[in-house]
Amino acid sequence: MKQLINPTVEQLGETPEAFLRLLGEPCMIYVEGEERTRTRGLVTLLHGNEPSGLRALHRWLRQGRRPCCNLLCFIPAVEAALLDSLHKHRVYPGERDMNRCFFPPYEDRPGKVAEEIVDLFEQYQPEAVLDIHNTSGHSPDFAVVTYESEPHEALVSLFCDRLVITDLRLGALMERSSRRCPVVTIECGGAADEAANEVAWQGLQRYLHQPEVLQLEHGKQMDIYRHPVRLELIPGTVVAFAEGYVIGTDLTVPADLDRHNFGTVERGTLIGWLGSEAAERCLRVHNAKGEDVGSRLFEIHGNQLVTAVPLKLFMITTRPDIALSDCLLYAAEEREHEILKT
Ligand SMILES: [Zn+2]
Repeated sequence: MKQLINPTVEQLGETPEAFLRLLGEPCMIYVEGEERTRTRGLVTLLHGNEPSGLRALHRWLRQGRRPCCNLLCFIPAVEAALLDSLHKHRVYPGERDMNRCFFPPYEDRPGKVAEEIVDLFEQYQPEAVLDIHNTSGHSPDFAVVTYESEPHEALVSLFCDRLVITDLRLGALMERSSRRCPVVTIECGGAADEAANEVAWQGLQRYLHQPEVLQLEHGKQMDIYRHPVRLELIPGTVVAFAEGYVIGTDLTVPADLDRHNFGTVERGTLIGWLGSEAAERCLRVHNAKGEDVGSRLFEIHGNQLVTAVPLKLFMITTRPDIALSDCLLYAAEEREHEILKT
């Protein structure tokens, strides 16, 4: 992996794109802080099509400011981001999703990159790690953590106030979170949403210049979503996004389904049109224990797949490739807003 220590303005290029072309491969960047005894970690562009964190980091590096603590950051999916048109590919074709590779075995290329990141974080011992992403569909900003704790919530609150607590385990970087080093995933909003760039920029500046980032501001209220499930499609499912059923598909999803991101939908909300009775078998809705909860949360009326209970939906994608390779959406049963004790 390439390493840049206190990069000069020439090493950064004029634009984020020029910067990526200069890098050409996964990169570690280290910037010495005012306080040299503490380090903070940052990862962005684990997915090649999610540029908000990279743009914010590039903008900040170009300013030449010194962070309050040392900064250790990683830009992993450089090759995927540069392939074909810029930020088209989430994953390098034919490889595993880089954010599913943070636990052994680390045998393939994305696994080796993930292993190197894990090793370097072990070596530098940051007090926290942020992993900055975008969603592929339109979405407001939110964050994801693997368990509830004040440091997690404090880090998230630098960026946003919607917090998903998930017990699903996929091999993501945030699953390495510990008491010694909390790790949070920040989803700044849609990759094509201008607002997402601003979320990343404002949050990153707080993270890099605020002396304390692990204590939640007193009275801060978070909107919490606990234990979501993923609506997955089995390999080989023919899926389309359109205004009405597309002949030949197993599932056609309304093209604007992502308007429900982080909204609460009532029972009976349309999720898609099914091609046949057998098409139902293309869907998989498992909770963290591996139990099939599909029939409790969703039901079928005629050829329509609809919600069976009120649900909060999020991370709804409108890209067929991502719906197939990752999931169509996440769903959490509706709860009242909860106030965290501080
Ligand atoms: Zn991502």
